[in-house]
Amino acid sequence: MDFEPVIGLEIHAELQTRSKMFCACPVVDSTAAEPNRYVCPVCAGMPGALPVPNQRAIEWTILTGLALNCEIAEYSLFYRKNYFYPDLPSEYQRSMYDYPLCRNGYLEIDTLHGPRRVGIRRVHIEEDTGKLLHVGGVTLVDFNRSGVPLMEIVTEPDMHSVEEVKAFAIALRTLLRYLGVNSGDMEKGVIRFEANVSVRPKGETRLGTRTEIKNLNSFRALVRAVEYEIQRQIGILCAGGQVEQETMGWDDARGMTVPQRGKEHAHDYRYFPEPDIPPLVISREWVEEIRARLPELPRARMQRFEQIYGLTRREAALLTEDHQVADYFERAVTLACHGEPALEPRTIAAWITGELFRLMNEAHQEIQDVRVSPKSLVELIRMVQRGAINLNTGKLVLREAFETGETPQQIVEAKGLAQIRDVEALRGIVFQIIEANPKEVESYLRGKEGVLKWFVGQVMRATRGQADPQRVNELVREALEARRAASA
Ligand code: ADP
Ligand code: ZN
Ligand code: MG
Repeated sequence: MDFEPVIGLEIHAELQTRSKMFCACPVVDSTAAEPNRYVCPVCAGMPGALPVPNQRAIEWTILTGLALNCEIAEYSLFYRKNYFYPDLPSEYQRSMYDYPLCRNGYLEIDTLHGPRRVGIRRVHIEEDTGKLLHVGGVTLVDFNRSGVPLMEIVTEPDMHSVEEVKAFAIALRTLLRYLGVNSGDMEKGVIRFEANVSVRPKGETRLGTRTEIKNLNSFRALVRAVEYEIQRQIGILCAGGQVEQETMGWDDARGMTVPQRGKEHAHDYRYFPEPDIPPLVISREWVEEIRARLPELPRARMQRFEQIYGLTRREAALLTEDHQVADYFERAVTLACHGEPALEPRTIAAWITGELFRLMNEAHQEIQDVRVSPKSLVELIRMVQRGAINLNTGKLVLREAFETGETPQQIVEAKGLAQIRDVEALRGIVFQIIEANPKEVESYLRGKEGVLKWFVGQVMRATRGQADPQRVNELVREALEARRAASA
């Protein structure tokens, strides 16, 4: 029997506002800050401390909802979700239970079978919990993260392969970064994924029993866990068994999902409306004001790059995945259209997605840390196009600029890398090398064309790579053919 996987995702993304959701404590990097420095009676859950909602967090959630093509509620409500856990001092988490701010949206992604829409069921706000640290047999708690605004995004069960899950996860993270609401830093836990997975016989329209996988803190873990869980469930069904609805954890070291005693199955949350916060009434004018502030979104930018700059889909996708890379590229393109020689956007795209990305990967650097400015990159490409340096030297100069922060011009001058453009000088070197290698000349004259390349290599070596290989090629051929004419 053939099975079809069905996957829905729940994503928790911290809203990186200045202050927490219901108090004035700052939102800090909870992996770096001194524990329990940024806590007050409200986020420590002291009885009687009154919460005040963070308007910016509500605005950013609406902004995200609009970018995800959602309907924005006119009325939204915070509830108390009651449960006991040591990272939750108030013993309830505030969350928008059945009155979320945003509903019924979608995000378009690219798949092997073309573009697809993944439905967004809801987007709502809740508050993050503190963090437990298990050290040397004791458990410590840090409340810096307690009360940080947390946006929950829930998809429809619309994905049917790990490729789609990965494409969606990447597209969503990129979108949140474009909106400036979340840094997308998975290692710091500011964005967290949970996957709901079921399988069903192909052609069946009812959903199968699902499991929910928690603690997926990298794209790799997300992909591996979903892949593993699909196979596990297919195995059970093939053997005539039944999948049990349960919460699983992902054990990255063993590469498998393991059943977890989820706190939510232990008891019921007894949701009730938060008595300390009035219902939120969202005016249509405010929604339109926020809509007007939507930036150009990743997909639109990718399509514009394809159309306006004549890039391939792949290049456009690579350049727009990080909005700061896209900005860097566009700054370079703007600089490149004044001045000589004019550069094609495609040429710049090729240098960025090729050489520059290679250097960034090697050094684990983000574009904002790169010391080669767009201006320097354009200057470098121009030197290559003008023939002042050859392509290989160009790559070496870029590496040097990347490492030292010097401009390409400084490097070329300091190292005397400018290409040998004096044709007579080059001709002299070609002559010497041909003179010194009579055997190779002979085999060329007997028809071994390949020897030509060898001669070019020798000349390039003699010039320390500073000659234009094409020009050398012409000169070598010219000299060898002159020999042929002389010997005939
Ligand atoms: P909860 O986890 O609170 O019970 P929901 O029932 O709304 O919430 O579902 C949570 C997520 O699980 C959603 O992303 C939804 O798309 C997904 N989901 C629900 N049923 C299935 C299923 N049978 N197979 C795969 N995913 C599912
Ligand atoms: Zn506080
Ligand atoms: Mg769930």
